[in-house]
Amino acid sequence: MIKATFPHMGTFHIPMKSLLSNLGFQPIVPPPTSQKTIAIGTELSPEFACLPFKVNLGNYIEAIANGAELILMAGGVGPCRFGYYSQVQGRALAGAGYSAKLVTLEAPNADLSELYRKIKKYIPRHSIWDITQALHVFWTKARAIDKFDQLANKIRAREKNLGAITKIQNQFYKALDNTAILKEIDRVFNQALTGLDSIQLVPEAKPLKIMLLGEIYMVLEHRVNFRIEEQLGHMGVDVKRSIYLSDWIEEHFSPLHINKSRWHLSKLARPYLDSHVGGHGLESVAHGIEAGVNRMDGIIQLAPFTCMPEIVAMAPLTAISNDFSIPVLHLIIDEHSGEAGIRTRLEAFVDLLKHRKDKITMKQLSI
Ligand code: SF4
Repeated sequence: MIKATFPHMGTFHIPMKSLLSNLGFQPIVPPPTSQKTIAIGTELSPEFACLPFKVNLGNYIEAIANGAELILMAGGVGPCRFGYYSQVQGRALAGAGYSAKLVTLEAPNADLSELYRKIKKYIPRHSIWDITQALHVFWTKARAIDKFDQLANKIRAREKNLGAITKIQNQFYKALDNTAILKEIDRVFNQALTGLDSIQLVPEAKPLKIMLLGEIYMVLEHRVNFRIEEQLGHMGVDVKRSIYLSDWIEEHFSPLHINKSRWHLSKLARPYLDSHVGGHGLESVAHGIEAGVNRMDGIIQLAPFTCMPEIVAMAPLTAISNDFSIPVLHLIIDEHSGEAGIRTRLEAFVDLLKHRKDKITMKQLSI
């Protein structure tokens, strides 16, 4: 059985582990990303590589230490460094003496048959039906996580006992990770929803509404964003995340999917940015406008240091901030960022938004 690994990105390992098992691999999930992971990856990376590159490289090396012999990495197209990530990572690993094979899986919207050929080589005995079934479980798990997280983000700002939702969330992730069949996934999901239903809320709470947008890895990976959704929730913020893993899967892995969402976002962003700038730069601008139009209280942009698409998105976001009178916090994170520094900036931003909201309410009351 081939021992296969992949990079961490939030809770991606839960559906991915199922997918690999169902396809006959032995999944080697890298240890959770830590400071050590980041240090290992940084040491082998070019200095100006973006943070996700470095962290992923660290994930591979830790997984290789646990026996991984095959690394699966997504490829990409477009004006961003992601397209040649895996080639450079492969060379860095080979240069350091690692013999694990790194296979780049180009997003199927680039070439579906190529992806199939690449996978088939490693799973010759699996039929298309087996692969479809494995993908179905993968998708159902990813969808369940996203639906749960969306709800959790909404109500965390109102929870009476701080941490109660996070506890249910972690139990849900663990239970989901241990399930293998579709019926069980439904049961685990419904049980987690029942848990959320039982959470005691503060009825008079008036949460701030913040749009969390930016580069996908930074938005989804809890370790590098210092569990920003949880931190904000505990500060009384209803967080609307701009991107979920299942959105990305749908966009790239559903051959029949007509990309209405991307078309819609391009149209929305057009007055401020009229071309695709790679990564999720255009989406960041579109979601910034969405936050302004919906009169949300603020926007937080998460970007890795040197991320070109998010740097491009910064100027339009500043214009959106002025036009819609909505404050924006740009958080640029690299391997030297620390939780205390990020927390201080979040607290200051949330304080500013609270004062602003109180002032607006007072003004409206005195009219
Ligand atoms: S979007 Fe930014 S962080 Fe992600 S690969 Fe491209 S340049 Fe790097």
